[in-house]
Formats: sequence, C-alpha cells, structure tokens
Amino acid sequence: MRQRLAILGSTGSIGVNTLEVAALHPDSIEVYALTAARNVDLMLSQCVRFSPRIAVMADPDSALKLKRRCAEAGLKIDVEAGADAITALARHPEVDTVMAAIVGAAGLEPCMAAARSAKKLLLANKEALVVGGPLFMDAVHKGGATLLPIDSEHSAIFQSLPPDPSQWSKLVDKLILTASGGPFRTRDPATLAEVTPEMACAHPNWVMGRKISVDSASMMNKALEVIEAHFLFGMPPERIEAIIHPQSVIHSMVQFVDNSVVAQLGTPDMRGPIAYGLSWPGRITSGATAINFSTIAALTFEPADRPDHRLRYPGLGLAWRALREMPGSTAVLNAANEVAVDAFLQGQIRFDRIYQVNLQTMDQMRFAAPQSVAELIDLDQQSRAMARDFVRSLAH
Ligand code: NDP
Repeated sequence: MRQRLAILGSTGSIGVNTLEVAALHPDSIEVYALTAARNVDLMLSQCVRFSPRIAVMADPDSALKLKRRCAEAGLKIDVEAGADAITALARHPEVDTVMAAIVGAAGLEPCMAAARSAKKLLLANKEALVVGGPLFMDAVHKGGATLLPIDSEHSAIFQSLPPDPSQWSKLVDKLILTASGGPFRTRDPATLAEVTPEMACAHPNWVMGRKISVDSASMMNKALEVIEAHFLFGMPPERIEAIIHPQSVIHSMVQFVDNSVVAQLGTPDMRGPIAYGLSWPGRITSGATAINFSTIAALTFEPADRPDHRLRYPGLGLAWRALREMPGSTAVLNAANEVAVDAFLQGQIRFDRIYQVNLQTMDQMRFAAPQSVAELIDLDQQSRAMARDFVRSLAH
C-alpha cells in the first residue's frame, strides 16, 4: 500500500527535498497534501507536478490566489486557508505520514496534532520539539505516534543506536553531535558585529532556509539540537556533547559504555535523512551522491568550547542552561532566538546581539511551569514580547 504523505512546509528547503525523494518512489509514496505560508508560485508548480488532493496556505490571501490559479490551470485540488487547516491536515484520517518542515514554533500545533493522531511523524521542525518538550513527547507516547528525526544529526544518532529504546540509557555513554561551525568558524570573533545576513546565510556545506542558516552561523542551531537530542533520546544533558567537525561528513556519533563509537557518515544532503525517515525501518534510494573516500583529505575535529569558539559561539552553552532550568525555559530560549534572528535578518540588530537578546530574555523572563499546550503558547508569546523589547533597545 502507498504511504500517503502530507508535507507541512513543502515550499521550504526540507519540503522541496522531501518532494525530490517522493518523486523517486511514486509506487510507494503518494503526495497527499502540501502546505506553505505565502509562496503561491512554488506551491502552484508543486501542485501541477504532484497533484496533491489538498493544498493549504497559512496566509488567507495567498490561499485565494492559489485557488484561482489552480482553477485556471484546471487542477482539481481542495485549497484551504489558515493555521487551523494545517493542524487539521496533520490529523487527517487519510494521511499516514506527516513531514513536519515548517520553520519555528508555528509548527508546534500541527506537530502535536500529528503526535496525538498516531501518525508517522517525520520531525525536521526542531523548534516544535524544543518548545513542546515533555508535553510533546507525552503526546507522542500517549497518541501512539512514530516519531522519526529528520535533522541529519539526530537521524545519524538514531541510525547508530540499538533498535530497542529501553536499552539506550544502559548502553550509551554519550551522544556526540557534530557541528560544521558555519561560515564564521575561522573569523576573528571581535569582527562578528560587522557580518551581514547574506554572509551569515552562506553556509559552507549545507543549503538551507535563512533562519536555520543564521542559527548555524551562531551555533544556536546546535544549541537547539542539544535540546532536541535530550527530548528525543531521553539522554541527560551532561551526556550530550557537541564537537566541531568542519567537513560535515560524520553526521553525529554515539559513544557506548565500552568507549566504542558508532558514527553515521554521508554527503551533506538532506535527502539522505529524509529518505531514511520515509522508508524506516527499511531503506530506499535518496538521490544523494555517495561519499568518495578517496577525495576526502582529512576528517578534523575542534572542541566547541575552545576559548576562541566560546567567544564566537556564546549561545551554545544556553542549551545546557535551558535544560537545567526546565520546564518552560527551552520555550523561552526558542522564542527569544526566533525574534532575534528575524530582527537580524531584517537589518534591525547586529549579529552579535542575537546572543544578548537570548541571554537577557532567559535572565529576566519569570514564569510558572507550563502544564498544557495553551500555557506553552502563552509562554512563547510572552517571551517574544520581552525579546522584542530587548531588540528595540539594541536596534541600531
Ligand atoms: P524554510 O524557511 O526553507 O521553509 C519553511 C517552510 O515553512 C516554507 O514552506 C514556509 O512557507 C513554511 N512556513 C513558514 N512560516 C510558516 C507559518 N507561520 N505557518 C505555516 N507555514 C510556514 O525552512 P527549512 O526548510 O530550512 O527548515 C524547516 C525546518 O526544518 C526548520 O525547523 C529547520 O530548523 C529544520 N531543518 C532544516 C534543515 C535544512 O537543511 N534546511 C536541516 C535540518 C532541520 P513559505 O515558503 O510560503 O514561506
């Protein structure tokens, strides 16, 4: 039977790569539904190519435009509008697999809906898990969903771990997340105030959306991934490590209690982890090229806490702090970072101010532990409001 796939965020970098993998396997994967925010042109061309049954635009005006253009093109697609329609799609009875590839906390509610509806949930949208934390994992377990990581690091760890999760805490000594170090790894940290959004988005190894590209440059992406690894694999924060590996060939590693290390390797191409998520526990072709070991001159590593890297990536340590201060603190950190990155991309604050906004928001936000998704969303909104105040005070 064909797996019916809904791609939330189909016009983004992960969404486009997911469609490329799906296109290789039309006999086993049906592209059932697509969603985006505003990019009508790309959504229309995806609708023409894949003929989904449902297409949702979060923005109502964009949905109207898409509806008109689908009609003009003679496409029989149910076009819907709004965030609630995306959440409804995530729990749609005819959908088997949900690719969660919306960027940011906007993906939380659809992810929760998919988790509660026993879907196969392919999680690229790390912010949803960072915000949702224990409530998200509880929904996965109680709802009977199958949660599979798409982030290349977490896919690598998942591929390196033994299949039985009940063995993980006994057999694993630590999880080692690799980080490329982004475009500023060798830049003098004193000059980080001068970098532009274009420089921050020019990642040396991966082609990604703008938000995650900035997060990679600041290493906040790795901070979010440390938090993600804690929730996904139930590993205590002190047993999660980040190491800089500029070549991005080793996607991450697991060190076992006997000090043996299992690593997963591949070219930096998200179609690899996406294909693994779609086919797990089997494997399918992904379209990613194979590693040519004869052309890899060296695999190198640098401690992420080397003194110059501490200056370059001050935000990385906020992951362990947020995990120590749980629950709720990871949602505060994520909200502050989304606001700060957006302000940097809009030219409102300098790159090095992202860390200051995140730190000040964590220092000053007062809150009770959230007990429900509604309380989490409230905390997210309050943290954003505080972070926006800090952005205003730091704007140049
Ligand atoms: P992009 O910015 O490229 O794409 C984001 C997608 O989400 C687009 O389809 C966009 O629609 C849609 N979207 C944005 N805002 C909203 C909203 N408020 N409501 C509904 N839909 C929305 O992001 P990426 O593909 O790079 O990243 C997606 C997620 O995957 C992120 O959480 C990221 O951290 C994670 N990830 C990405 C990797 C990568 O290689 N890119 C690697 C590992 C993880 P529109 O185009 O219309 O704006």
